[in-house]
Amino acid sequence: MSKILIIEDEESIAELEKDYLELSGFDVIVCNTGEVGLKTALEEEIDLIILDIMLPVMDGFEICKKVREKKDIPIILVSAKKEDIDKIRGFGIGADDYITKPFSPSELVARVKAHLARYERLVGSKEAANEVYEIRGIKIDRTSRRVFVNGEEKAFTTKEFDLLYFLAKNPNRVFTKEEIFSNIWDLESVGDIATVTVHIKKIREKIEFNPSKPQYIETIWGIGYRFKI
Ligand code: CA
Repeated sequence: MSKILIIEDEESIAELEKDYLELSGFDVIVCNTGEVGLKTALEEEIDLIILDIMLPVMDGFEICKKVREKKDIPIILVSAKKEDIDKIRGFGIGADDYITKPFSPSELVARVKAHLARYERLVGSKEAANEVYEIRGIKIDRTSRRVFVNGEEKAFTTKEFDLLYFLAKNPNRVFTKEEIFSNIWDLESVGDIATVTVHIKKIREKIEFNPSKPQYIETIWGIGYRFKI
């Protein structure tokens, strides 16, 4: 069940919105101040926010911006003034929609449903688009950080995965050990370019049919390595 957060200082309006949304099957939380509303928006699992602009102390614009820094859930602003509409349109504050008072509760419910459906499609398409590289029997799934060799999953350490992914996403390009080291290991880490050699050896043992005659990660003598496709 989708959870809707209403941030609205006028309690009668908040109750009306809540009743209609609950009748439509939503879980509803009401906050009557901006401060509590913002805290709830950031800490709870909320699917959509209905946010009044005119709130004492912290207004809806400020809350909208702060929520946007952390979450991309739909936000519908509620406005009582025409000037607000110009601001919503002109300032890029990150709201998905707005509705002006007075509005019919059924219109609000319709907007909520539309935005939730659009957001679910968006999130769904993000999940579907796993970043996967497939090269001659090797499958590198960046999203889940898993590696398969001819359909069989191989266990990779974090750095081994990062290294393999780095080379595979830049195929046929030769990297020196220094370049690889500076790309994969952060500056604070203890180690030197010999670490690269050790990791390449371990990766080859996992992905190559014959590690002494590598088909994927080639050694370019005197320079470094490249991922061959
Ligand atoms: Ca208000």
